[in-house]
Amino acid sequence: MSQGIITASYIGATVLFILALSGLSNQESARRGNLYGMVGMAIALLATISGVTGNWAILLAGLVVGAGIGLLLAKRVQMTEMPELVAILHSLVGFAAVLVGYANFMDPNIHFTGIDLTIHDIETYLGILIGGITFSGSIIAFGKLSGKIGGNPMLLPGRHWLNLILLIVTIVLCKMFVDQSAEGGGMMPLLIMTGIAFLFGIHMVMAIGGADMPVVVSMLNSYSGWAASATGFMLNNDLLIVTGALVGSSGAILSYIMCRAMNRKFIAVIAGGFGTTSGSSSSASVEDQGEVVAMEAPEVAQLLNEAKEVMIIPGYGMAVAQAQHTVNEITKVLKKKKINVRFGIHPVAGRMPGHMNVLLAEAKVPYDIVYEMDEINDDFPNIDVSVVIGANDIVNPSAQTDPDSPIAGMPVMECWLGKTTVVLKRGMATGYAGVQNPLFFKENTRMLFGDAKKSLDAVLKDLG
Ligand code: NDP
Repeated sequence: MSQGIITASYIGATVLFILALSGLSNQESARRGNLYGMVGMAIALLATISGVTGNWAILLAGLVVGAGIGLLLAKRVQMTEMPELVAILHSLVGFAAVLVGYANFMDPNIHFTGIDLTIHDIETYLGILIGGITFSGSIIAFGKLSGKIGGNPMLLPGRHWLNLILLIVTIVLCKMFVDQSAEGGGMMPLLIMTGIAFLFGIHMVMAIGGADMPVVVSMLNSYSGWAASATGFMLNNDLLIVTGALVGSSGAILSYIMCRAMNRKFIAVIAGGFGTTSGSSSSASVEDQGEVVAMEAPEVAQLLNEAKEVMIIPGYGMAVAQAQHTVNEITKVLKKKKINVRFGIHPVAGRMPGHMNVLLAEAKVPYDIVYEMDEINDDFPNIDVSVVIGANDIVNPSAQTDPDSPIAGMPVMECWLGKTTVVLKRGMATGYAGVQNPLFFKENTRMLFGDAKKSLDAVLKDLG
């Protein structure tokens, strides 16, 4: 393929990636957005591969193995395991940036001199640094999201000083690397920096409390983009620079949106330490909070039949139970009875950004009855029945009332302001943030215990 066609393909792929991002901003166009992304990536791969003048057999073997593993993982993964999969894939992007950085540094065919060498060295250094942090940070995020590592933040004494020292050492090492590289060396500072980057990634994510993980997921997404972008500069590949910058900046915007949704300051989340409280009133034992009132499915069906305004609040438990299709069936029955049913979606419900929207779209719940928290939170005083399906932290009033709570200050769905709230969950277990929920003990709350899918199947049967 001629250089002109490759450049044109790169521009085409870039346009498709931008269209993909704009498509993903809205549920109705999300499918189309995904399609643009896939076509863009196919064009980018073809154009890049066609420009390779090396050992084709190795390239093809790598492609087959990589695509095979990707296909297998995508086929096997459960919807509830998606966040872990995304985290581990980010770690691969980071690791690839580290490996490409070293390969490029050791390539005997690359000869730069003067200022060009300095710029190239800094690009290499940054690519490996960001890639290293993304790699180890994403592995820890994977561990936390999959429950293999505890959600509590690990807070080393003087951790801010430690971070500052690591930053200064990294800058000094960069200077050493650039100086030594000009003399034909530089491997030692690069290796030490890589070790520091790995340690920093581990320390950074370990210090972040469970409730702040949504920000970590989007932040690592952003880092993986910047790592790719730095690698693009190093390899002089325009497409990689642009694609990396798109991922990096969209991840940064998402992190900002997540922080706003949780009422956190971005720097405070990165510095870690949220979710540290223990023994506060919010984490008090079940006995301390009073009694819960349980209900059976026929009673819930009756409540719904008598309601005029119903709000459904889905959470992580709905994803676990795969109850979204039954929820849609119930919605259809209620709408036929002229009952106004709406869905209220909290920005951090589930385990990844947009988790609930994806599930509801999969079950074909009409988009026009699905509302963001900000759009419907003021409506709760007019709601007859709120149905909380496997949600916990996002409907926890202690976020507003208990300043010691790990989720203090996080905006929540104020369903307790409605007439009645029915909460579907299996027992009295806490949610991701590990705090007890006073909502369950309120006078106007009823609990429907059991797996959300089974409970909703029973409610659907009794709706008549
Ligand atoms: P939570 O994790 O707070 O609560 C989920 C609840 O679902 C649990 O209390 C559990 O109770 C219940 N549950 C689990 N399985 C079932 C089942 N089969 N049937 C019925 N109920 C079930 O979820 P939320 O959606 O309310 O909040 C999300 C939390 O996850 C927040 O803390 C958020 O910060 C965090 N998070 C969000 C991310 C994101 O990007 N959205 C990323 C990482 C973390 P029981 O066991 O008693 O049934």
